[in-house]
Amino acid sequence: MMLSVAEALARILAPFSPLAGEVVGIDRAVGRVLAEPVAARLSQPPAAVSAMDGYAVRGTDIARLPAKLKVIGTIAAGMSPEMPVNAGEAARIFTGAILPPGADTVVIQENCARDGDVVSVGEGSNKPGQHVRAAGNDFRLGEIGLSAGRQLTARDIAFAAAMNWPNLTVTRRPRIALLSTGDELQHPGEPLGPAQIVASNGIGLAALVTACGGESINLGIARDNMADLNRALDGARGADVLVTTGGASVGELDLIQRALQEKGADLDFWKIAMRPGKPVMFGTLDKLPVLGLPGNPVSALVTATLFLRPIVERLLGRTDAETGPSMARLGTALKANDQRQDYLRATVGRGPDGGLVATPFAKQDSAMLSLIAKADALIIRPPHAPAANAGDLTEILPLAGGCLSI
Ligand code: AMP
Ligand code: MG
Repeated sequence: MMLSVAEALARILAPFSPLAGEVVGIDRAVGRVLAEPVAARLSQPPAAVSAMDGYAVRGTDIARLPAKLKVIGTIAAGMSPEMPVNAGEAARIFTGAILPPGADTVVIQENCARDGDVVSVGEGSNKPGQHVRAAGNDFRLGEIGLSAGRQLTARDIAFAAAMNWPNLTVTRRPRIALLSTGDELQHPGEPLGPAQIVASNGIGLAALVTACGGESINLGIARDNMADLNRALDGARGADVLVTTGGASVGELDLIQRALQEKGADLDFWKIAMRPGKPVMFGTLDKLPVLGLPGNPVSALVTATLFLRPIVERLLGRTDAETGPSMARLGTALKANDQRQDYLRATVGRGPDGGLVATPFAKQDSAMLSLIAKADALIIRPPHAPAANAGDLTEILPLAGGCLSI
């Protein structure tokens, strides 16, 4: 029996919970995930302030217009006005400045004419109470501004800074050890023998881990023999997760399972009802969770997107969902599907009505990196999906934004 993608994901995520928090300077916190909620350490604005450049007045004085008022002073942002604005008076005021006692309204300067210490407020000016930001209008002392589990954007950082936090407590970055296996593999940029290929999986997965907010540990390439695999696996100590690629099928040279088991790993070897990426291994080596992904480059990236990304997000304690599936119309007809959930590499454009149109590449070879790199999305075809026509709605997993930008 093959496992469904949903079942495999549930089993994989079961042992993971968020990592501990660490304190970082707010200027280094963008992209990190909050481990604790952030409450305002002050109210903003601290007192009623002017929203415009103009004159602070008493609303009753401009109930009937035009009005002439005596200007008693000037208040700029940063000043603490003490002199009250009494009936018949006004104070010149600038944006962000605290309203003087007695004033409850700002008339904008465009509606005023100044002559010495007298300001005339013209007909058609704003109403009493306008252009004032009340104390705590943005946020109040003690209010929770940002909740735990949120991946911090630049906007969040500005907000947290305004709430007067110089440091933030974020979850530690998950450490993901990555091991590639295969006699045929060579590091990128090295001279290649006639039968060698470049090991792209480790690099690609490291990039995905980084984009998801994790930290990758490069265990390099292990050759297809037990001694080398054993040596390489020892390097995973201290990681939060070990991810291997390749060597996970049932060929004689697919030794990764044996090497892990000889070290005492408790492993499940699954066939997942999906395409690409059928063989996936999951278990623990001592206390270290191990995820074994297929070697085929597209399979490795797709299974990492479906299973490794959620692990990293769980370890980070993320509660704000990453870009999930969305809907598009098919650009071409598709045949009925078999029992495996398909993830078809596709381009996404806009149809005449502005809606998304997803068109699968004609070739869906799980070794073709050129196409997954060009793909905008994966079209998700559930097991036993009936034949579909161009224009039918389909679920897609967009490959853009956050760590889905693989
Ligand atoms: P395997 O599961 O080891 O049989 O690998 C399946 C296919 O993926 C083979 O064609 C391998 O050459 C290829 N492959 C395995 N690991 C990598 C890697 N790290 N980078 C690129 N291709 C790989
Ligand atoms: Mg291999």
